[in-house]
Amino acid sequence: MKALSKLKPEKGIWLTDVDVPVCGATDVLVKIEKTAICGTDIHIYQWDDWAEQTIKTPMVVGHEFYGKIVEVGSEVIGFKIGDRVSGEGHITCGFCRNCRAGKRHLCRNTIGIGVNRQGCFAEYLAIPAVNAFKLPDDIPENIASIMDPYGNAAHTALSFDLVGEDVLITGAGPIGIMAVAIAKHVGARYVVITDINDYRLALAKKMGATAAVNVQHTSLTDVRKTLNIKEGFDVALEMSGSPHALTEMLKQMNHGGKIAMLGIPPKNTAIDWNEVIFKGLYIKGIYGREMFETWYKMVSMYQSGLDVSPVITHEFHVDEFQQGFDAMLSGQSGKVILNWD
Ligand code: NAD
Ligand code: ZN
Repeated sequence: MKALSKLKPEKGIWLTDVDVPVCGATDVLVKIEKTAICGTDIHIYQWDDWAEQTIKTPMVVGHEFYGKIVEVGSEVIGFKIGDRVSGEGHITCGFCRNCRAGKRHLCRNTIGIGVNRQGCFAEYLAIPAVNAFKLPDDIPENIASIMDPYGNAAHTALSFDLVGEDVLITGAGPIGIMAVAIAKHVGARYVVITDINDYRLALAKKMGATAAVNVQHTSLTDVRKTLNIKEGFDVALEMSGSPHALTEMLKQMNHGGKIAMLGIPPKNTAIDWNEVIFKGLYIKGIYGREMFETWYKMVSMYQSGLDVSPVITHEFHVDEFQQGFDAMLSGQSGKVILNWD
């Protein structure tokens, strides 16, 4: 079958011909129809330090997908051939304390599809059936293919009560942009998002941001004055991974404010702990999505009118994958989809 693989420890990704994966007794085999490119895939493409330390070549990459089940393992219950599915890219061990307590997103032995084992940028993907998520008929294919990052946004944004709150989001990448729409959907008063990329800020504005702020030209203190946010932000979602953004966020929080951190800052990033202590801030780290609570919430929010589709800015056939990666690398994109049929 056709697959996009990391073949060599250098920049690039290659269209290859590999064996169709075997569907084990507890697996489902999915015929892939759509995939989306994630920032993680870009790290692997660029072959940065993280990729070099993490990826064993050759590796079929990718973890954001939509497809249909074509084979069901002999021990699988609850799925049948033809089911429309996306899937959780974090494969958890099932026997650690958190897994056994039903808190699989906190598993200490998580393995990543397209990172530690063969991924979904391929005509077929075999995954444990417990990782597949059956989609209702009314979820469109494009939304289905971005459930993974939509889930990152939902997990982060729904970590704290946003009703009537003033929310700061740092980083207008695809996940920050979707978080804007979610925060508005669930009842935040003001949603202010920051970035240094005007293309992405414009997209965030389109998704309902009260203010989309380029921090290179405008200060958050001024924005707060304009909006009359006197005491500071109530809730903040860190979605840039930038130490500058985090430093500024801590300054702009009200006392007792709550911060959910999805963005991955460089190792040993320092912060002013006095901001955290004397303001009594809460900081929560976010990894992945809650299995499968976040997934059900995503479906329900879609069905109650949340539309994250404007974040999808490009679509290519897989044979044009290079154009897809180039669009991601340019910074002038939201989500980029690759079609496989
Ligand atoms: P992205 O890299 O596309 O977006 C990050 C954005 O932050 C970019 O648009 C960039 O211009 C912006 N930025 C840079 N400096 C900034 C600053 N000083 N202030 C404000 N914005 C600034 O990433 P994404 O795919 O949207 O993901 C968001 C973050 O979440 C990334 O750090 C990513 O690594 C991380 N992530 C974490 C998880 C997890 O499970 N914890 C999962 C997915 C992604
Ligand atoms: Zn576990």
